[in-house]
Amino acid sequence: MSENPSFYRFPLGAFEITSLLDGSAKRDGPYPIFGADQKEEDVHALLKQNFLPPTRYESPYTPTLVNTGKDLILFDTGNGPGGRDTGSGLLRDVLAKAGHGPDQIDIVVITHGHPDHIAGLMEGDEPAFPNARIVFGALEFDYWNKGENIPEARRQTRELFMKVAAPFGEKATFIDPGDDVVTGIRAIEAYGHSPGHLVFHVESENHQLLIWSDTCNHYVASLQRPDWHVSFDNDHEQAAATRKKIFDMVHTDRIPVHGYHMPFPALGYLDKRGSTYHWVPTSYQFNL
Ligand SMILES: [Zn+2]
Repeated sequence: MSENPSFYRFPLGAFEITSLLDGSAKRDGPYPIFGADQKEEDVHALLKQNFLPPTRYESPYTPTLVNTGKDLILFDTGNGPGGRDTGSGLLRDVLAKAGHGPDQIDIVVITHGHPDHIAGLMEGDEPAFPNARIVFGALEFDYWNKGENIPEARRQTRELFMKVAAPFGEKATFIDPGDDVVTGIRAIEAYGHSPGHLVFHVESENHQLLIWSDTCNHYVASLQRPDWHVSFDNDHEQAAATRKKIFDMVHTDRIPVHGYHMPFPALGYLDKRGSTYHWVPTSYQFNL
């Protein structure tokens, strides 16, 4: 059994960011979850070229905590109680290790309605973060709440959403792209992975970070080949267009990214070699 760090904290201007590891899944793949529209051997070749095994991969789950000094804001809630048999759903333990009780969270922001992001909203029959105001993307909340045009593969996601997320609807805050969660944290449209998927630009004292959630879910397959189909994406073409838009933005602005499914601590930059983006994990940039 390997033992790894489960949280990583660093300053971003006057803010403090903590990357929290809810756990990780080990799966067969990435093909055909990634690159189902490609030849299997081409997907294997790209992974081998990047020093990764071709037929097994690890997918971490990494909620982000932003302490603005005024508010403690959690982005996504991990796999919750249902994940604990399979090595995830550990967010509450990791939060405690990082020095925070669940009752201290002021705001929970949900980037989109998929299970690994919403399941931790409830702990049994109780809200997992009893004092938190919940923030949803308006479009995303409506999509799951109305339940029209849900693909067969997302039936269970919809059931879970109605159980753990919909009950917060009455008291929740609903935002659109361009809206601020608080001063310094702005929602950006990143539709495609889910119909109303949002990412968040964080800025304090001229230091920036993009919390890109599930814009890109494998740091090689989806980053070097943004067009390859990803089975978790709701709309393949829209998700690919969003990847390219977001990649271009963070590369041009040279800002660090926090990615929910990027290798822990889920922080990196994008380098462009020719027309291909590459993930550059952060090293000591935030420790200085
Ligand atoms: Zn996810």
